[in-house]
Amino acid sequence: MTTTLPSYDDVVARYEPVIGLETHVELGTRTKMFCGCRTDFGGEPNTRVCPVCLGLPGSLPVVNKAAVEATIRIGLALNCSIAEWCRFARKNYFYPDMPKNYQISQYDEPICVDGYLDVEVNGETVRIGIERVHMEEDTGKTLHVGGATGRIHGATESLVDYNRAGIPLVEIVTKPIPGTGELAPEIARAYVTELRDVIRSLGVSDVRMEEGSLRCDVNTSLNLPGQEWGTRTETKNVNSLRSVERAVRSEMLRQASVLDAGGRITQETRHFHEDTGDTTPGRSKETATDYRYFPEPDLVPIAPDPAWVAELKAALPELPRVHRRRLQEQWGLSDLDMQSVLNAGAVELIEQTVAAGATPAAARKWWLGELSRRANETGVELTDVGATPEQVAELQGLVDAGKLNDKLARTVLEGVVAGEGSPTEIMTSRNLEVVSDTGALTAAVDEAIAANPDIADKIRSGKVAAAGALVGAVMKTTRGQADAKTVRELILARLNVEA
Ligand SMILES: [Zn+2]
Repeated sequence: MTTTLPSYDDVVARYEPVIGLETHVELGTRTKMFCGCRTDFGGEPNTRVCPVCLGLPGSLPVVNKAAVEATIRIGLALNCSIAEWCRFARKNYFYPDMPKNYQISQYDEPICVDGYLDVEVNGETVRIGIERVHMEEDTGKTLHVGGATGRIHGATESLVDYNRAGIPLVEIVTKPIPGTGELAPEIARAYVTELRDVIRSLGVSDVRMEEGSLRCDVNTSLNLPGQEWGTRTETKNVNSLRSVERAVRSEMLRQASVLDAGGRITQETRHFHEDTGDTTPGRSKETATDYRYFPEPDLVPIAPDPAWVAELKAALPELPRVHRRRLQEQWGLSDLDMQSVLNAGAVELIEQTVAAGATPAAARKWWLGELSRRANETGVELTDVGATPEQVAELQGLVDAGKLNDKLARTVLEGVVAGEGSPTEIMTSRNLEVVSDTGALTAAVDEAIAANPDIADKIRSGKVAAAGALVGAVMKTTRGQADAKTVRELILARLNVEA
């Protein structure tokens, strides 16, 4: 079915969206959720497995305490209540990359419930309710080979790698989020961004969406104002922050066009396609009864000691929102300036540059100026642009010491980004240091005065502005490596003119 999609403005004028997000986070524990197998990425297929994570008969799981601790810390950071008693449950379904044919998860007795996360969108705080945070295990990975697309259609065979099977996962489920109106896509993105930052600050996961250690499913529905909430769809495969935003928007447009044509929305999972920004239908959505949940008989219930939970709570690090507010104050930035730092993804980079010795203003200038421009041009994240905070601080140190002017510093930075070495090394090897030897400069100044007697006369008669032309001449003979301010002062001094 091809229909013309309505415009976004038209959709939000007529429909109200309700969104919800389910986020899976792979914990960075050393071993798996229920066995001692290593979790680090990149082993040969099926080398990090044992009878437990392969689900062999007679093997018994044992809960990883570090994973429980990490989950409780996530729950606490999301303002949840921590259950004094909870259980694991079996979620039964067949899938070849799931060796036991059930997944150990949590169902009606999750470890963390009823919290919230405050996020900022356009300077406003939006409180997102957290329904639950629970523990489960990851599945293996299926590789379809022999086809052009890597999908099962057209493949000649499928291979399964169980290295990932049993890696601890935490699932964070929001309450439904109504009332967002046209901001639904931005709020979804802001939530995932903030959640990622919170989890990163706890040090329990590397939360890299592109590597799958943070995965997001986006629920979307539309209803007419004043009416019941509509049927929701669940969009999967959303693996970047930008895609979270696009997935909500594209699903709102699609659902509106179906509803406009008098159709009904089917409750189903949909797949997001990075290239087109569209979603296509996946399987029709199972309901909880399809999974035949029951309490996991091989594991004892978990009853975290309230004293331990209180200890974990007291030891939580400063959370990103509080941390950002403190930095904004320290750096003396307006809300607007801080917002541009956030949008550029430069908070930590500036913080580390300042820690390496630069002033906040200088650090911000480099990261938001030259380096952001380069990141945009080459389509990479600022963190991958090729310069480190230490290098930027070193570069600024050379500027502050008068060894580089702004223009030369940008040339040195080019070298840094190209991997030629440290700023000092590049300055030396490319002979870019500012000419600060007054003798050499004075000679260049005298030469410029001698070559331009008419301009020199103008300056002598009081037209100080004419000095610019002589400064230009000196900069030319020194290949831009003189400090323009010093040159100007020298010219005026040689001509006995007050500055
Ligand atoms: Zn194992």
